[in-house]
Amino acid sequence: MKNLFEIKKLNMHYPVIDGLFGNIKGYVYALNNVDIEIYENEILGLVGESGSGKSTLGNCILKLIQPTSGDIIFQGENITGKSKNELKDFRKKSQLIFQNPYMSLDPRMKIYDILKEPLIVNGLKDEEEIDLRIKNIISLTGMSDDVLNRYPHEFSGGQRQRIAIARAIIINPEFIVADEPVSALDVSIQAQIVNLLLELKEKLNLTMLFISHDLSVIKYISDRIAVMYLGEIVELAPKEKLFNNHKHPYTEALLNAVPIINEKNRNKKCTIKGDIPSVHKLPEGCKFHTRCPYVMEKCKTLSPKFYQIDENHSVRCFLCENRI
Ligand code: SF4
Repeated sequence: MKNLFEIKKLNMHYPVIDGLFGNIKGYVYALNNVDIEIYENEILGLVGESGSGKSTLGNCILKLIQPTSGDIIFQGENITGKSKNELKDFRKKSQLIFQNPYMSLDPRMKIYDILKEPLIVNGLKDEEEIDLRIKNIISLTGMSDDVLNRYPHEFSGGQRQRIAIARAIIINPEFIVADEPVSALDVSIQAQIVNLLLELKEKLNLTMLFISHDLSVIKYISDRIAVMYLGEIVELAPKEKLFNNHKHPYTEALLNAVPIINEKNRNKKCTIKGDIPSVHKLPEGCKFHTRCPYVMEKCKTLSPKFYQIDENHSVRCFLCENRI
């Protein structure tokens, strides 16, 4: 499979500034040595608790924030240190779908103008072509032309998310980061939006990083799944392997946290206890050791590697070090 992105040793450490003197009094360790590849035309699901660094990773990959260190390689080219000007081409090829369609659309603009804006920014001038592109894209997202003359407040959450998706894909991007795109929607609407994204991925040959804390949505939409904990990828596998043969205790704990009808089938040993540790002061050794039911002495001082235990299946846990 061909890589669209290669992310190498990516770190994002936000300095915490002392208000009075402007001194740095510590760091928020949002991303820590993240290594991951995103294949062309796949949907890579990214799952983890709130505060695990999922959105920060999405924003770094899109170059909306500058990582502290590491490399972002897009289509074979290192884009990490590129300037705003040098990123123009990359901006056309990559787009973001936000979590909240209520906040992401300008309430003062008609839908037609919301969709026209990215075309103008990207240099399209021919009014006829603009009109055609807008009408095509609105029909591709399952809406009719009459929406174009209306304002965002006239629509439901699901319709607004369709409009936000139309705006993201109108400039023909190759890559989309969908950051919790259905979590602000009613459950009945979520499936429609997820199906729309799947349909668009096929029709437009899109590659997608789909961020969610909802395992059932991730399972439905993703080809591969990466599990994040405290700014690290702790397990990465195709979705069938991750759901049927996961190896990391945190993945097991996340799956155990999903409510099920028959409680007898639950592995009670591995449930998440306590809160996620502070990102200001990460635990020594394995970052999950403060909550792991399988913790060993060495987990408290040594960091496990990201062991590749099988084709396409890697796990950051000492329990897997002899499986290689
Ligand atoms: Fe648990 Fe140790 Fe594995 Fe970390 S390395 S997940 S603490 S068993």
